Amino acid sequence: MKALLVCEQREGKLLDTSYELVAFAERLGAEVSLVLVGTPAQAPQVAAKLYLADVNKYGEYSPELHKHIVLAAALKENPDYIIFPHSSYGWDLAPRVAATLRVGQVSEVVNIVDGKLEVSLCNGKLRRTVSPKAARAVLTVQAGAFNYAGQKSGAPQVEAIEISQGSSALQFVGYEPAEKKDVDLGRAEIIVSAGRGVGKKENVGVIADLAKAFGGELGASRPVVDAGWVGHSHQVGTTGQTVSPKLYVACGISGAIQHLAGMKKSDFIVAINKDKDAPISEAADVMVVADVLALAPVLAEKLRAA
Ligand code: FAD
Repeated sequence: MKALLVCEQREGKLLDTSYELVAFAERLGAEVSLVLVGTPAQAPQVAAKLYLADVNKYGEYSPELHKHIVLAAALKENPDYIIFPHSSYGWDLAPRVAATLRVGQVSEVVNIVDGKLEVSLCNGKLRRTVSPKAARAVLTVQAGAFNYAGQKSGAPQVEAIEISQGSSALQFVGYEPAEKKDVDLGRAEIIVSAGRGVGKKENVGVIADLAKAFGGELGASRPVVDAGWVGHSHQVGTTGQTVSPKLYVACGISGAIQHLAGMKKSDFIVAINKDKDAPISEAADVMVVADVLALAPVLAEKLRAA
């Protein structure tokens, strides 16, 4: 089985999801080749064939040009799977490639079970297992679902890729900084996050107080942000921030893959949850089975007294 992995760079930096695609393809047992619109300096350090298209020529992003670059690499490799990160880059590009090739697409793969692809649906509440019937398929892989354990020191065998399509109807203009945040979770050494388990907006203060007692910042899962209980700058996860504090305390958070992707690189994870079987228990170093609304004030008091 052959897999062509579509790597992603942003503003000169190769994204880590490129290595996660390698981990996923290795789990599939696939022979790997890579394609990147970037520069030689951004090449993934993996001992595999890399088709490299010049980002200065083809642009940071251009749906048409990048599509043709992926198709040109696919023509050379004839892969069974063409695999994209499940990011805004992959969301836009993967269906264009699938439609041009007239092949099916499996979106948001989060696991491989008995050789079949497990995908997330209904906002991560359900999982479905699928197995493409056709010889070729396009896949997108959720960030954080596959961990690359190898050394990032392999030497790719680079082949420059050129396409005849020289221009696009769309022009990449640039990135805009997000609205000013009221908190910078990326720098926090301790984050205490509130999940839907806190129940209502008025209870978020209990978790914020615990965060303060720890000398840390308040984080949140997406439902808490979507409900308007706290601002988006507090959100941790694939559509929020990726954080790696020394201590992460998850309060009333189930541990959906989209949340885990944003915090699982924390040095030490404590989860406080009423349900001992909540998926977060698999990522947690310490799992406290308790009502967080009862425990948090007591814990905050103890910390202040210490
Ligand atoms: P729930 O899953 O509802 O879990 C609540 C938990 O609280 C349960 O485990 C329950 O046992 C526990 N609980 C209840 N009451 C108490 C109590 N009194 N004390 C202790 N424990 C209690 N999610 C994110 O967080 N970040 C993202 O960036 C993100 N991006 C997403 C992007 C996409 C494209 C999609 C589809 C989803 C995304 N999600 C994201 C949503 C994600 O799939 C989950 O729905 C979400 O993380 C669940 O949040 P939660 O754990 O707070 O809520």
